Amino acid sequence: MTDNTDLEFLTAYNVPEGDAHPAIIFERLIDLPEHQHFRDDGIAVEFLYRIAPKIKAGKQQLGMMALPTVQGQFKDLFEQLLCQFFGRMPHFLCILDQEFWLAADQVTREALLEHELCHVRQEVTKTGELRFDQDGNPVYGIVGHDIEEFNYIVRKYGAWQPDIAAFISAASGE
Ligand SMILES: [Zn+2]
Repeated sequence: MTDNTDLEFLTAYNVPEGDAHPAIIFERLIDLPEHQHFRDDGIAVEFLYRIAPKIKAGKQQLGMMALPTVQGQFKDLFEQLLCQFFGRMPHFLCILDQEFWLAADQVTREALLEHELCHVRQEVTKTGELRFDQDGNPVYGIVGHDIEEFNYIVRKYGAWQPDIAAFISAASGE
C-alpha cells in the first residue's frame, strides 16, 4: 500500500467563500424575468472554483455549467458524496476558473455567471414540446451556445470577454 496521507491530489477544486461567492450574484440574477425559473422551479445550483486553468480548443474555459452526473457503478457514491459535500443534491454544478473569477470585476463576474445561467434550459421532446417529469415538473438540461443567447449577453454587457471574436466563432460552431 502506498501512503495516502498526502492529499494534494484532491485539491482540484475549491469551494467559494466570502464576498466573491458566485451565489451572491446568482441570487440577484434569478430575480430577473429571464432567469426567474431558477427560483420558481427550485433549480439548485452549486458553485466550485477550478484551480488549474482548463484549455479547451486552444481557449481557456472561464466557466462551465454541467449536470452533476457520472456514469458507471459509482454513480450512487458520487451522488452521495455531492449531497454530503453541499448539504443537498444540486441540479447543476457551475465551475468557474478561480484565478479569473477572483481577479474579475463585478460586471465581468456577472456577465460570466449570467452566460452560464443561459446554458440551463427546459428540455424539449423530439416533437418540440417542453419536457415535464411524471409529477408535472419541468425537466431542465444543458444547451450549447446559440446566437440568440449570446446576443442577449452581448447586448447587456458588450464584449466582456477578452477574445470576443474567437468566442463568437466558437459559439456559432456549436
Ligand atoms: Zn458558454
